[in-house]
Amino acid sequence: CSKEGGSTAKVLKVGTDAGFAPFEFQDEKSKEYVGFDMDLIKALGKQMGYEVQIQNMNFDGLIPGLEANNIDAIASGMTITEARKQKVNFTKPYYQAGLTIVVKSENNSIKNFKDLEGKKIAVQIGTTGAAEAKKIKDAQVREFNNAPEAFMELKAGGVDAVVNDKPVNEYYIAQSGSKDAKAVGEPLQAEEYGIAVAKKNTELAGKLDKALDELKKNGEYEKIYVKWFGK
Ligand code: GLN
Repeated sequence: CSKEGGSTAKVLKVGTDAGFAPFEFQDEKSKEYVGFDMDLIKALGKQMGYEVQIQNMNFDGLIPGLEANNIDAIASGMTITEARKQKVNFTKPYYQAGLTIVVKSENNSIKNFKDLEGKKIAVQIGTTGAAEAKKIKDAQVREFNNAPEAFMELKAGGVDAVVNDKPVNEYYIAQSGSKDAKAVGEPLQAEEYGIAVAKKNTELAGKLDKALDELKKNGEYEKIYVKWFGK
């Protein structure tokens, strides 16, 4: 997957699910994959002397893609969990997130996770949001391939709520200029995003960790953070 030496840069094939703004999404005009994770992985690649190639795939196909060696790394707002650690190697955390709830603006009955009992909830398949929603008593959980589809279902009135990552929920509400949706609830628990590499590939994980430290020291990480999240 990567060439050593010569003038050709080594290639780092990175899988992402580009329906997760502001971390990864497709720019409508340029058609490029943009976002916080995309800027970060490109900066990490540059630091390590790799050319980064992005592959867009479904979120639940990312870990299988890594296991099958189709990609070298995952940069996709992926939460570091014990279950995933059985299958992949994570870098150090690079972003702090957590789950919140999105409901329609006029909904005043759902204010926290307890209020979701017995409700219809849309989630993205294979995510921590899906796992948590399934633990809610009597909830009917409907799984979608990506976050935008879950939000559309809420808009269409097919569900009462979406459970998804807080920064993505906030971005969705702000960007859609959406007067029809709001985020409620304290983040359910702290979640940390990491870049995943194959279980065997401890060397790449180490290189990524080192490069991440360097980008934090030289101000590059801060620049990318401010670009997407402000101060
Ligand atoms: N952070 C969540 C998870 O890891 C959602 C990630 C995503 O949908 N891209 O499950």
